[in-house]
Amino acid sequence: MSPEKIAIFDTTLRDGEQSPGCSMFLDEKIDMARQLERLGVDVIEAGFPIASEGDYRAVRAISQEITGATIAALCRTVPEDIYRAADALKGAARSRIHTFVATSDIHLQYKLQKTRAEVLEMTKNSVSIASENADEVEFSAEDATRSDVDFLCEVFSTAADAGATVLNVPDTVGYTMPHEYSNLIRTIKDRVVGDRDITISVHCHNDLGLAVANSLAAVEAGARQVEGTINGIGERAGNASLEEFVMACSVRSDKMPFANNIDTTQLYPASQMLASIISFGVQPNKAIVGRNAFAHEAGIHQHGVLSNPLCYEIMTPESVGVPKNDIVLGKHSGRHALLSRYEQLGFEFDAGEIKEIYTRFVELADKKKNIYDQDLLAIIHDRATAVFAA
Ligand SMILES: [Zn+2]
Repeated sequence: MSPEKIAIFDTTLRDGEQSPGCSMFLDEKIDMARQLERLGVDVIEAGFPIASEGDYRAVRAISQEITGATIAALCRTVPEDIYRAADALKGAARSRIHTFVATSDIHLQYKLQKTRAEVLEMTKNSVSIASENADEVEFSAEDATRSDVDFLCEVFSTAADAGATVLNVPDTVGYTMPHEYSNLIRTIKDRVVGDRDITISVHCHNDLGLAVANSLAAVEAGARQVEGTINGIGERAGNASLEEFVMACSVRSDKMPFANNIDTTQLYPASQMLASIISFGVQPNKAIVGRNAFAHEAGIHQHGVLSNPLCYEIMTPESVGVPKNDIVLGKHSGRHALLSRYEQLGFEFDAGEIKEIYTRFVELADKKKNIYDQDLLAIIHDRATAVFAA
């Protein structure tokens, strides 16, 4: 029997993009979406179309551009949001409307000023409208982990009855603990899903540093979609880091016997591309994609790794797409070496762009002995000016 599949839902362009320092321009979002497609994510959440004209345009463009993943658009449980999302998703090969409403008492009272009965009504109406306007509907109960569990199950049942086939259980404020979260997932599976063909999804925030651990616990309890972002960007302390979740499943497949569509060698290129677009990089000791993730400085470690990498490495750098540093780019490097490095990082250019980029590369190589990935990324983005000035 082949292993059960975990769907990977990427929200770098929505939850990630709406966090401080992470705004992206349209062409940058399209580059990122192409890289996510190469990475093999199942769903790309491309934006929140009612929130801004920019989000609407991004969802529309990505829907037209990407054929290898389902495109999702976020909306509140409000008809005008849903129609706007459906409109933006029109060109998608496969479209998903992702509608959400808060279910915790604190959100109902202070944010929504709605009763529980009103929330149930909004859920029913909006999921019904959404299911007529997209290929599939995902429903999220915002702040699920701080909601009354009986009410939460009632809301999820209402959404499922109205046509939602993915039920997302967000730990919106990064509050839950792994064992507590897995209990909640089991309860929803028993009380809401039963025999129905419905996927339980999880969306974890990292306020206590538990987003990936909670996602893994949820999968063991029956969740079959995991939401995350590249480099773990997202509101406050961020979302579950997609690369960490995927590599935990890969390295510990003995404990996590599930399949997914991710090409892990595209993780590092995705991380580098995102870092080049937003206003901050990856912390050096970040798992999987940080600069030090595969660095060995202590003498005894170096000796061990040289004798056999398995002494200290549980995965190889190549498995996540960290390039071997045989080739150092410098002023003697030709166009071919430069373009093949860009290709490894996920970028392709037309003839006009190549000419301009190569000229800028040569200018930089005249001033700087070794050209690193960060320099190559700076060459093609706005930060180039800052680097040249330094
Ligand atoms: Zn979130």
